[in-house]
Amino acid sequence: MSIQPFIPYGHQWLDDGDISAVSAALQSDWLTQGPLIAEFERALARRCGAKFAVAVANGTAALHLAALAAGFGPGDEVITSPITFVASANCLLYTGACPGFADIDPVTYCLDPASVRRRITPATRGLIPVHFAGQPCDMSELGKIAREHELLVIEDAAHAIGASYQLNGQNNLVGSCAHSAMTIFSFHPVKHITSGEGGAVTTNSSELYEKLLLLRNHGIARDPGRLERYDGPWYYEMQELGFNYRITDFQCALGLQQLERLTAFIERRLAISAAYDEAFRAMPELIIPVIRPGAFSSYHLYVLQLRTIDRAQAFDQLREQGLGVNVHYIPVHLQPYYARKFGYLPGDFPEAERYYARAISLPIFPRMNDDDVRRVIRAIQRTVAELSP
Ligand SMILES: *Cc1c(COP(=O)(O)O)cnc(C)c1O
Repeated sequence: MSIQPFIPYGHQWLDDGDISAVSAALQSDWLTQGPLIAEFERALARRCGAKFAVAVANGTAALHLAALAAGFGPGDEVITSPITFVASANCLLYTGACPGFADIDPVTYCLDPASVRRRITPATRGLIPVHFAGQPCDMSELGKIAREHELLVIEDAAHAIGASYQLNGQNNLVGSCAHSAMTIFSFHPVKHITSGEGGAVTTNSSELYEKLLLLRNHGIARDPGRLERYDGPWYYEMQELGFNYRITDFQCALGLQQLERLTAFIERRLAISAAYDEAFRAMPELIIPVIRPGAFSSYHLYVLQLRTIDRAQAFDQLREQGLGVNVHYIPVHLQPYYARKFGYLPGDFPEAERYYARAISLPIFPRMNDDDVRRVIRAIQRTVAELSP
């Protein structure tokens, strides 16, 4: 039926400037550890309003390093959302800590602070709130809970670079770590900006910053001021068990260019989401995304809830019409690995499961033109009409 091109749910946008910058980096003397890494880190920290940024190989590596720098390990429990990519929870297992979950708020799909409160045990050491779809979590409430229970907070902002929220009359950029110890980002091509693979951690703590740098590179220190002994000019020292989670110089060349385009990318995402809202708001079959007062979403995803029509049928019909609709996410606690290992059962996080049963993500990415947007809207309207009882 469809001869029109497939529209994926997300896609990168590289322009000539991006490609020239990568090309120039490839022709420089540095492929791996060059000057563009620190330059990208400085630009990212500035854009997010944080003191420090550490760029790494991908968002999962950023989560792993943040969890290690936080000191999470065996015996510790850390609460995250079941509605996220598996990496938000897996990073805890890598450290020997135990991922715990709390339910989501049925309106924003972010962690519900009241549910978090109920899930805290004496073993709980931290929180990993996920700014789902680009909407900042309720950091005021989560911050309060964290202070009361002495929990360390790592924000998973893989969806939310450029997002912000008002709190006590102040505008807080996601990544500024105003209510957390660290924030992580991903630069995978479906995210807002890309460096191919890539990720980063931001923090305002010089202690965490130094730890992240050490762990990114095998736990090896070279700086004479930081060595435990000194055998000679060749000498370096492995002080912790770290990893090779380095990013390359030419990836950071791309990251720097993309960061300059972030504001324009977000503006386009907002325009697309506004067009979707406008088209779908009055349709009783659908629930459009709801943004909390005071929150500014950077719209990584546009998720509809299908109230009265079958999600599987709608998914098939939309795919047949060439739309790369998707589902974000299968609740992590019901992934076979997690269900088996921790004994989770359907019904354990009812809001997350209800959300999952009805969720469908529509295409949203800056390079979509107005015709693409109209095509998505018409396809949804047609599918809803056909499937309505
Ligand atoms: C993409 C993503 C990650 C992992 O990032 P990668 O760069 O793919 O490793 C982590 N958390 C969330 C919520 C994500 O969407």
